[in-house]
Amino acid sequence: MQYYSTNGKAPMATLEKAVVKGLAEDRGLYMPERINPLSKAFFENMPNMKFQDIAYNVADAFFGEDIDGDSLQDLVYDTLQFECPIKKVKENIYSLELFHGPTLAFKDVGARFMARMLRYFTQNNKSALKDKGNGLINVLVATSGDTGSAVANGFLGVEGIHVYVLYPKGKVSPIQECQFTTLGQNITAIEVDGVFDDCQRLVKSAFMDEELNKHMKLTSANSINVARFLPQAFYYFNAVAQITSQLSPLNSQLVMCVPSGNFGNICSALFGHKMGLPVKRFIAANNANDIFYNYLQTGQYNPKPSKQTLANAMDVGDPSNFARIINLYSENGKLSAEETHQRITSLISGATYSDEQIKEAMRECYAETGYILDPHGACGYRALEEQLKPGEIGIFCETAHPAKFKEKVDEILGLDIEIPERLQAFMKGKKQSIEMSKNFEDFKQFLMKE
Ligand SMILES: *Cc1c(COP(=O)(O)O)cnc(C)c1O
Repeated sequence: MQYYSTNGKAPMATLEKAVVKGLAEDRGLYMPERINPLSKAFFENMPNMKFQDIAYNVADAFFGEDIDGDSLQDLVYDTLQFECPIKKVKENIYSLELFHGPTLAFKDVGARFMARMLRYFTQNNKSALKDKGNGLINVLVATSGDTGSAVANGFLGVEGIHVYVLYPKGKVSPIQECQFTTLGQNITAIEVDGVFDDCQRLVKSAFMDEELNKHMKLTSANSINVARFLPQAFYYFNAVAQITSQLSPLNSQLVMCVPSGNFGNICSALFGHKMGLPVKRFIAANNANDIFYNYLQTGQYNPKPSKQTLANAMDVGDPSNFARIINLYSENGKLSAEETHQRITSLISGATYSDEQIKEAMRECYAETGYILDPHGACGYRALEEQLKPGEIGIFCETAHPAKFKEKVDEILGLDIEIPERLQAFMKGKKQSIEMSKNFEDFKQFLMKE
């Protein structure tokens, strides 16, 4: 399978190139040239299949031409070492809990899958990837908290790959920090004396520095990477399978609601829909960063600087995957902007919530049902409550475990929620990090010695 760029000015890429490069030469996002539909027999069988097997069938539709069946199956099975259960919250509203992975957030699946795919390529094509310096692929990732932990844990112990996580000193929560500073092995945490934007600038400068790129093979584990965003489609097939086995026969009135920031998660669900997944419509739930919401209302896309909110993993003012959604519904630019907008609004509606509304949703949901939402999931829950029509069944993604935001959740709900053992284990580890100035020369000199 070849991958084309949403900007249309870069050559087609192989899967390997799309994964290693992340972004196309014309700065567009890679898209698979075909989206293979899954068979009727598969959908009929799905409610009786386990998560890993459902996911393997989905992965095969995308990657089966490029990765042999046994390797792909290992890759999927090794990625999905946990379940993503559906819980009934109240009448007609279900929570799809995507937080049972190693760092208790939904980004775990994409990060784990991408790490294993890179390992597959290094083991099978040594000449293309292992040609320089330390012979490793070096992944650089800047984080304000959540991405760093998912990527570091996803890549932990994966041979042939070293990960450098850059984070702003004193600006990430202690729970987040311990998830990528206590790991050791092939993970190096770099504590930058600056803000998140400085970390991002250091990473970008490193990718552009010729001397450094001659010295070592650098790649990013950005959420726009096809190996990170596409595997998230597994979640939605699994969700439909679960709801179908709970509410058989198959319900054709399913509404899927996704709390969204960079729109990678919902985009993978939309790919699933193109493959035949029986979902009637989607809701993209935003916090106060309402750029996509405004696009749905007006047809105009106006990126803005991001606003800080309670649901901070969704604080995005220019969602990267917007380009993919437009590409998907414009048939790669063949349809006009109006037609594309019309097709998108007939399938997806939006919602936007202030911090006050998020808190209110968390409090009301807890009082009414006893279910503890995190601030991201709260946007999804509220959007379903407001928009679900009679006869419809709504599923919202609960994208993070509430304990990841313990201080906020405790304060809002007046609770002292328990920290799962997995998080506690990180907190007991010893912090190891390398202090770094925000000066690119310092960072470069450090990497040149690696
Ligand atoms: C990353 C993240 C989101 C947003 O997902 P996108 O794919 O960027 O839209 C939502 N909730 C949590 C907890 C996240 O970490």
